[in-house]
Amino acid sequence: MKSEFIWMDGKLVPYDQATVHFLTPALHYGLAVFEGIRCYETKTGPAVFRLKEHIDRLLNSVLAFGVRDFPFTHQELFDAVLETVKANKFKSCYIRPLVYMADGLLSLSIDDSRPAVGIAVWEWGSLHGEDNLTKGIRMMVSSYTRLHPNVNLTKAKIAGNYVNSVLAKSMASRLGMDEAVMMDPEGFVAECTGENLFLVRDGKILTPPRATILEGITRDALLVLAGDLGIEVIEEQITRDQLYIADEVFLCGTAAEVVPVVEIDFRKIGAGEVGEITRKIQKVFTETIHGENKRSKDWLAYV
Ligand code: PMP
Repeated sequence: MKSEFIWMDGKLVPYDQATVHFLTPALHYGLAVFEGIRCYETKTGPAVFRLKEHIDRLLNSVLAFGVRDFPFTHQELFDAVLETVKANKFKSCYIRPLVYMADGLLSLSIDDSRPAVGIAVWEWGSLHGEDNLTKGIRMMVSSYTRLHPNVNLTKAKIAGNYVNSVLAKSMASRLGMDEAVMMDPEGFVAECTGENLFLVRDGKILTPPRATILEGITRDALLVLAGDLGIEVIEEQITRDQLYIADEVFLCGTAAEVVPVVEIDFRKIGAGEVGEITRKIQKVFTETIHGENKRSKDWLAYV
């Protein structure tokens, strides 16, 4: 994860100097919001995928979380991400902006603390490994429920929310599974621990509606790209057994990219191998992030 520089509150500092104090409120209560973004290699140099939308979501997280007097504008954060990638000279990398409640009182009011911002970048392959992009992964339905919107916020990428994901993912890993499917508080399929979920049945793609999931930016891109391919996408509530009898299942996210799922709860999905629609979606996504699709020009910010 080492890089040369990390951007801290307006300036690039050497990696080893990007530290915070033990009494930082974010560390004690998970009071931070973040983004996960990727920069990809293209024929005309490195480009950040959907940077505008990621900064929009970061600022929406800040807003929903209730931070007042946030000191940076959309343009400043957008430029800071590009500056950080450029300074570290990576051709492709993962980008992690974090707004964290820094010095202030360790009280339980957000107003007693001050928001600070850091941006780190590092070279990182697909979350589930390059192999699994072609082989597919095995998942289980988690016994942990996704956050109820009145217990925590599902639209904000709040650091503390991810304890829920860590519990589900760690249990799945220890049981030999690659990923966990998380149900919403009503018992319908929500998403995975850091990815959105899709199934394919009779040539159509189905995915859970937005209310109880994180509004994934990759998910949004895939909905557009599926439309371009003439594949119908339906957003509706999905049950666990709909996953079991699906022809194909795949998940997507910035860290994971587009990952086929070949088994859920010890049931083979479809033929137990990567399906045709998943392969098509994966291909068009890969072309898009590398600047080779008609959508690329609107979705790539060149470094
Ligand atoms: N759901 C959750 C819970 C996530 O953490 C992520 C990763 N940000 C996603 C879905 C996928 O979102 P995106 O495509 O914007 O990375």
